[in-house]
Amino acid sequence: EFSLAQRVGRIKPSPTLAVTAKAAELKAKGLDVLSLGAGEPDFDTPEHIKDAARGAMDRGFTKYTPVGGTPSLKAAIIAKMKRDNALDYKPNQVLVSTGGKQACYNLCQAFLNATDEVIVPAPYWVSYPDMVLLADATPVVIETTQATRFKITPEQLERAITPRTKMIWLNSPSNPSGMAYTRAELVALGEVLRRHPQILIASDDMYEKILWTGEPYSNIVNACPDLYERTVIIHAVSKTYSMTGWRIGWACGPAKLITAMADIQSQSTSNPNSIAQVAAEAALSGDQTCVTTMVEAFKRRHDALVADLNSVPGIECASGDGTFYVFPNVDGLIARLGVKDDLELSDLMLQKALVALVPGSAFGTPGHVRLSFATSEAVLKGAVERIRALVSG
Ligand code: PLP
Repeated sequence: EFSLAQRVGRIKPSPTLAVTAKAAELKAKGLDVLSLGAGEPDFDTPEHIKDAARGAMDRGFTKYTPVGGTPSLKAAIIAKMKRDNALDYKPNQVLVSTGGKQACYNLCQAFLNATDEVIVPAPYWVSYPDMVLLADATPVVIETTQATRFKITPEQLERAITPRTKMIWLNSPSNPSGMAYTRAELVALGEVLRRHPQILIASDDMYEKILWTGEPYSNIVNACPDLYERTVIIHAVSKTYSMTGWRIGWACGPAKLITAMADIQSQSTSNPNSIAQVAAEAALSGDQTCVTTMVEAFKRRHDALVADLNSVPGIECASGDGTFYVFPNVDGLIARLGVKDDLELSDLMLQKALVALVPGSAFGTPGHVRLSFATSEAVLKGAVERIRALVSG
């Protein structure tokens, strides 16, 4: 009988992928499951991006590339960061990885030690705490509620910081809450972080483009330019261009840290897929109308879904700022249906209403559920009607 590494015991498989798998299992049995669990856009990857990939294959661009990404993709990323975010990076400050997820993972492996604490505001993207644990460090969760639109306050941040705090995750707009920090809110958080120079800020800007607040997008460095040297931006083409399967993301930050992250990558996966790198370059450098079209659809669905959800007794859903998720409070629904918590509620939804959604506990915020509206308006309408029927039961 062999024993596994201790680190395996510290983590759990991604709960969002688990829900998707469970829903797929019921679907395979022939049941008409409406899936609101997906963490990816339902649109096809735009044609000009696929064309670039076909071209790459046809001209034999199918071999190893430099570990940290091709010079031309790095140039496209540098141009994007300048154009959209007014931030300057040199090629040695950019690392291209296999999705934003590997960028996050490389960061934890290159930066964290066993005695370090990492601040993780909840609700959080499911992988942040587990990646911290895989690097032997300790996640320190800050809890939030709908009352602050699931955003941490400067006071909460100050209280969570200890001499061992080495990093903080920021994710705006947020998966799963759909909320974005305003520039003013980031300025206020920056004032706290400025007093603690040992803390690195990991800014996960994955959903930058899927935003409808009217205020131009700001990350922590846009709000506090002096934090540039202490911030790593994590980004990807996955959500913006409906390219989740292509697996291209990147990190921009201090050269010393980026080099260490590249070393980790060189000894684990090497370069990201060569063909996908060409596709990502086409996405970043090409016509951006495809993004606008997708965001308009997400906004339309968001508005309809929020209104619909709020008409169901026991659900309280705040309007989001962006992404393709809403994160309503379902305490009332839990009470009405006589289930124990959001986990049991999600199970009941899947078994009895054939609606797949993700329990808030998976994101560190019980009493809520995450619904993805990366699906058709008909499916969304149908799902809410099924939930309503279950409640009036
Ligand atoms: N960060 C956040 C907040 C996400 O929601 C996701 C994807 O679900 C990722 C990172 C990882 O994205 P990728 O598919 O590019 O690895």
